[in-house]
Amino acid sequence: MDSRFVHSNPFSRCNGKSENNGDGEDSSKYPYVSALCMNGGDGDKSYSANSLITRRVLSMTKPVLVKNTKEMFANLDFPESVKVADFGCSSGQNTFLVMSEIVDAINFLCQERNQKQPEIECCLNDLPSNDFNAVFKLIALFKKKVTSEGSCFISGVPGSFYSRLFPRNSLHLVHSVYSIHFLSKVPDRLEKNNMNVYITASSPLSNYIAYLNQFQRDFSTFLKVRSEEMVSNGRVILTIMGRNTIDDPLYRDCCHCWTLLSNSLRDLVLEGLLSASKVNSFKIPFYDPTKEEVKEIIREEGSFQINDLETHGFDLGHSYEDCVSQSGREGQKEAGCIRAVTESMLVAHFGDSINIDTLFSKYAHHASQHASCKIKTTVTLVVSLIRK
Ligand code: SAH
Repeated sequence: MDSRFVHSNPFSRCNGKSENNGDGEDSSKYPYVSALCMNGGDGDKSYSANSLITRRVLSMTKPVLVKNTKEMFANLDFPESVKVADFGCSSGQNTFLVMSEIVDAINFLCQERNQKQPEIECCLNDLPSNDFNAVFKLIALFKKKVTSEGSCFISGVPGSFYSRLFPRNSLHLVHSVYSIHFLSKVPDRLEKNNMNVYITASSPLSNYIAYLNQFQRDFSTFLKVRSEEMVSNGRVILTIMGRNTIDDPLYRDCCHCWTLLSNSLRDLVLEGLLSASKVNSFKIPFYDPTKEEVKEIIREEGSFQINDLETHGFDLGHSYEDCVSQSGREGQKEAGCIRAVTESMLVAHFGDSINIDTLFSKYAHHASQHASCKIKTTVTLVVSLIRK
């Protein structure tokens, strides 16, 4: 990584306190970020009903998850109890899909090796504003699904994953899917960016540097606090939205989800339904790193050894290709997913001045226009780590 891009020592804030999310410490000019949470409940606008994309990502990452779970358990010599945590569990069924894969992998291994099944603690983390009640209502289903004759104990752990959430040396397995690409805050000192909610080809280079620096600080903090919470030889499996490594760090394809959101907001401005200055002050606290950027931050932080690092060509557009039997449906699906993720922040920022239905019908239209685009910069990065 080019050291010019490193803004400050990433570990200077690793004191176990969150920079922003959940702990209300954000004094930035983007206060709506503290409203970040997926749409709760199980209605048609909920994250639960719009999380198909992550479900597919999970089936893709299953081999890495199962392999690392088994290796961890065997290398730790079949402990009597295992503590597992899913960070950014949200409020759909996905978190229990992950937990059942983990519990099944451990139990199959025990049967194979003729070992006693452990007691397994499954800890589900998200921000305090997450709809944990919707998650807990799914516990009975989960308990039916797992093959365990042993016991699983489930708990919710509200708080920012950029802070300490567990006692020292307590976690054996850490998992997170499609969550760590959310930053603790919108980077400071962004230059004006023509009503774009995120980096685009026309953004100033300094904005890319600001996002990268924020990701470096946040991801290093995540690794540092997890390393304190984990036992030696514990495993971490992280899946994040990333981008292909190409020469221009600003380039994002025309169908990138945040480009489509910017275009939809701009439509509302052109129709006189939103003010340009209000749109200019809305930015997504997100960063899509390259594989190299991720690798470098892990190396610099130093607590973990990389076991697997895979890139999968998978994104919002592709994931819906097989739902395209009725033309236009894929745009609506994608709009539903982005709405479930961003609605709380949009409402916190724009208040009554925004008509969310209108915004996402624009989004569905733009997404449909790009349904056949084949050049995508977005990828899914899967990394597994071993606690040194
Ligand atoms: N893992 C889930 C959800 C992904 S959506 C799935 O597989 O479907 C991302 C989740 O990360 C959201 O629920 C969001 O609230 C959570 N999140 C974002 N920043 C967070 C933070 N700093 N601490 C804890 N959770 C966070």
